[in-house]
Amino acid sequence: MKLPLLEDLPDVSGRHVLVRCDFNVPLKGGEITDDSRIRAALPTLSWLVQRGATVTACTHLGRPKGAPDPRYDVSPVRERLSQLAPGVTLLENLRFDAGEEANDPAFTDRLVSGHDFYVNDAFASSHRAHASIVGPPGRLPSAAGRLLAREVEVLSGLLEAPRRPFVAVLGGAKVSDKIGLIASLVERVDTVLLGGAMCFTFLASGKHPTGDSIIEETWLDRCRDLLHSGKIVLPADLVVASSDRPEQVRTTANVVPEGWRALDIGPTSAAVFAKVIAQAGTVVWNGPMGVFEDPRFAAGTATVAQAMAATPGLSVAGGGDTIAAINKLGLAPHFDHISTGGGAMLEFMEHGDLPGLRALRQSVMASAGK
Ligand code: ADP
Ligand code: MG
Repeated sequence: MKLPLLEDLPDVSGRHVLVRCDFNVPLKGGEITDDSRIRAALPTLSWLVQRGATVTACTHLGRPKGAPDPRYDVSPVRERLSQLAPGVTLLENLRFDAGEEANDPAFTDRLVSGHDFYVNDAFASSHRAHASIVGPPGRLPSAAGRLLAREVEVLSGLLEAPRRPFVAVLGGAKVSDKIGLIASLVERVDTVLLGGAMCFTFLASGKHPTGDSIIEETWLDRCRDLLHSGKIVLPADLVVASSDRPEQVRTTANVVPEGWRALDIGPTSAAVFAKVIAQAGTVVWNGPMGVFEDPRFAAGTATVAQAMAATPGLSVAGGGDTIAAINKLGLAPHFDHISTGGGAMLEFMEHGDLPGLRALRQSVMASAGK
């Protein structure tokens, strides 16, 4: 079932519209270091303003513990928003009230009070059943904003009708974060290219010596089962550092000697991954191939990013650190889609739906037959 869109709302002119955004921007010393999350909401905000609506935005910022905390004051966001979208007001940090994360109906009531319509444009928060995400659609005619609708369109396209070969590239820190996603992708894709710290639990499950590399023992059996799919490609070589003398770095086969830890995929593996990506109809990527923050372990991630930027296939990437790596290389404009959702993208790819999207589809407007 389709999401209700802005066009499906009744005439917004002269009406009060509450817009849930994800303005959880990075801050340093009270200054916004990257305002792209605010810019990403502008198409929705200006659509509403141009049609004469009175627009109130709301967001969470950081992780305050259900009470006001000056470290997470939204003032810097409010100031930037007033420059980019004059006339749009911004409520206080939603997480200053414990009712937000607890999905307290009384908090939802306070939030929607004085508003006629609700718009969710916070794709990156829509995997959480928090009050501001799942509450208002039960009270007000509601719609998906432009950013949220675009994310869902691209990501559902991957799940429903991907151009093949469909390739997933997965890396990053932990198997435990992403095991559900890997299992679900193995069912859908033709090939999974695995790097990052998570690949060592897979290598260990196939009895490869992994030295001092990061292993998650609890997932060994599950990883071994997934390898039986025959779709998972593990790196054939690795960049390793000595545990005692971390300044000592070298390339080895995927057999890590005692006293060494692997911190990137090796050049042969990176070239193999790049070739598979070049021949893909669709590629989705989450998770750096190595500790890319250190230039000695950044080559695997850079090779994958360059291959994705160059592939004629549809290229989609997401995840906070993955996007940071792509931006560092200046390659973002060459991707077909960069998701604004880290956890939300992973959860959508795994389950094909999110609590915030379900709420919109069940909104009072949708059930009135609009
Ligand atoms: P994303 O935010 O894109 O979803 P993750 O948070 O899962 O990605 O993982 C990113 C982190 O994984 C990076 O900080 C990177 O240093 C780390 N990482 C990648 N490969 C390794 C490795 N071999 N050993 C240790 N850490 C790694
Ligand atoms: Mg991360």
